[in-house]
Amino acid sequence: MSDSLLRRQDVLALLNHLEREKVEFIDPSMEREKYRYPVVEQFLKSDVEVILEGLSGLGVLEKQLLDSIMVCPACESTSLMLKPVCPTCSSGRLMKGNVIEHMICGYVDFEQEFYSHGFKCIKCGKEMKTLGVDYRRAGVFFKCISCGRVTALPVRRYICVECGRANIEEELSLKPVFRYLVNREKFSALRGAFFDLTPLTSYIESMGYHVEAPAKIVGSSGVSHDFTLYINQTGQPTSSGLVADIVNEVSEDKIYEFFTKTFDVKAGAFMLLVVGKAS
Ligand SMILES: [Zn+2]
Ligand SMILES: [Zn+2]
Ligand SMILES: [Zn+2]
Repeated sequence: MSDSLLRRQDVLALLNHLEREKVEFIDPSMEREKYRYPVVEQFLKSDVEVILEGLSGLGVLEKQLLDSIMVCPACESTSLMLKPVCPTCSSGRLMKGNVIEHMICGYVDFEQEFYSHGFKCIKCGKEMKTLGVDYRRAGVFFKCISCGRVTALPVRRYICVECGRANIEEELSLKPVFRYLVNREKFSALRGAFFDLTPLTSYIESMGYHVEAPAKIVGSSGVSHDFTLYINQTGQPTSSGLVADIVNEVSEDKIYEFFTKTFDVKAGAFMLLVVGKAS
């Protein structure tokens, strides 16, 4: 997966853009009810999240949790319609309004219901006179037309607009939303891999060799090193293989670092190819 990722032209175009524009991080933005990565979408037609995930796995990007959203557990859609239902009979036939309680008998109903009865209690028939003495405003409530239940807290159902599934809040999945930090160091180490090496690797493979591009080799120190290319005969130790890095720029430090890692992995042969300037 990771190898093929760095061979994709659209992925390479994205990486080149991040490099050229010195992009430090990729932030999501909320568009059309979805978190999207517009910078990435300029280059990738599909699989945006899968590819960002893959690049994080390679260490090119580093994930940082930025936000989280509730999504449908069946289809991951963020388009959820909040639908209140009666806690007693599950009916959706609800009305919302200001509720008055007749304190003498405890009857509660919508304000307009009392008005339509000449401001007399619907239950006990007494006249309602003084706010705070014989009646009070109880606040905003929901009333079920099917069973008459008055409640401040109807059951909330979240209907998925995409697939139609009805969920209660506990059933919704929490989806993490990431910012992706561009890992400069890793970037320069993998830079060689941005070249399309497919013609070269296919040729070497056709000669009967085992090729990895890019390659990850654990050295005798236990540290895992990245190389642009690793060629060997199948099943042979690294001492009979060749490692190579392809870089855009090189300095003394880079050569020293390259030498150190080739030594650590005990490579039989090594090559540092510079495409561009060498100081
Ligand atoms: Zn009453
Ligand atoms: Zn009801
Ligand atoms: Zn759904």
